[in-house]
Amino acid sequence: MKVSLVSCDTYPQCYERIKKSVDLLGGITAFINKGDRVVIKPNFVSRKNPDEAATTHPDVIRAVIRLVSEAGGEPIIAESPGGPYNHAALKSIYSGCGAGRAAEGTNAVLNYDTGFRKVMLPNGQTIKSTTVINPVLDADKVISVAKLKTHAMTAYTGAVKNLFGCIPGTHKAELHFRLDDRDAFCSMLVDLYEFINPCLCIMDGVWGMEGDGPTAGVNRHMGVILASANGHALDLAAAHIIGYSSHEVPTLKNACDRGLIPRTAQELEILGDSLSEHMMPDVVKPESHFNLLRLLSLPPGLNKKITAMLSASPKPDIEKCVGCGECMRCCPPGAIEMKNNKPVINEGKCIKCFCCQELCPKKAMKIHRSVMNRLMLKLLK
Ligand code: SF4
Ligand code: SF4
Repeated sequence: MKVSLVSCDTYPQCYERIKKSVDLLGGITAFINKGDRVVIKPNFVSRKNPDEAATTHPDVIRAVIRLVSEAGGEPIIAESPGGPYNHAALKSIYSGCGAGRAAEGTNAVLNYDTGFRKVMLPNGQTIKSTTVINPVLDADKVISVAKLKTHAMTAYTGAVKNLFGCIPGTHKAELHFRLDDRDAFCSMLVDLYEFINPCLCIMDGVWGMEGDGPTAGVNRHMGVILASANGHALDLAAAHIIGYSSHEVPTLKNACDRGLIPRTAQELEILGDSLSEHMMPDVVKPESHFNLLRLLSLPPGLNKKITAMLSASPKPDIEKCVGCGECMRCCPPGAIEMKNNKPVINEGKCIKCFCCQELCPKKAMKIHRSVMNRLMLKLLK
């Protein structure tokens, strides 16, 4: 299982470095044939300036467009971000995240087809059907172009989680609601990845995000590009260099349990640089990582008060909150009410999906751990 690992300090270098990472895997023509319609799926989680390091950088997308074009493919940039999936939302995301700049002067097109279709996943372990956006279903090939980040709900977000953005708008919230257990949700992500089966995955790790990702963390220079034909393997290597073991990232644990990848990054065939050259074990984990329910492997279904004491929850920072209501609109179980123009969370309804934290445009939805949680963790150390 091959993963290429190449240093890349700045975005202006990235075409050459991404080309090198793909050449190590056999070159772009090993993945793309002349005339292929190729969906390039970036991580445009929400409208963010590329400098915030929450989204795939436009220079990385431009480099992938160039590679696809050189192989004779027809690149299409497609994303279904958080929130509604319509023409206006796509226009806003593309302009905010720099997709227009990435495609300028190339043969790439930005997808504005907001249609989707139901698909069956006969081999799915958690879902047997779902809906997927038209451009992905109509493409000959898909390339997942992910961003190296921590994630409040899934610990880490990479090539596999990136494909959740192939599910149209509000259908994502339905899945969060239906699969309110983190492991079940991540098993669904593995089902979805296996169904879409991208031909190539590339990771923008030039600037990544640590702390309370995927949008409210802190950007951090990581200086690396990864590529692989296998998104699980790429994620195993990328998660390893930022200090996660496979059992700490539920999509990886699930892929290991299914026998799709080995349990450790050392068992992968790493091409280019070595893993040890890029280790960043001090990357800050999200607050939700320090969830005693998981760290102590306590069974689900405990008393609600004990659960609240031992896990992390979203909590609005009233000073920073501008009362836009985005958190309320995106909350899958409807656990948020706006009172006096500020969000109030119903703890009993909250499923800890952290969509509110992910989509808050002002980083005003914090991840909160109780004093008891902090104290107990200190005692355990
Ligand atoms: S999304 Fe953020 S800024 Fe908007 S109401 Fe919720 S917490 Fe406040
Ligand atoms: S309050 Fe936030 S974390 Fe809780 S269910 Fe709603 S969106 Fe998810």
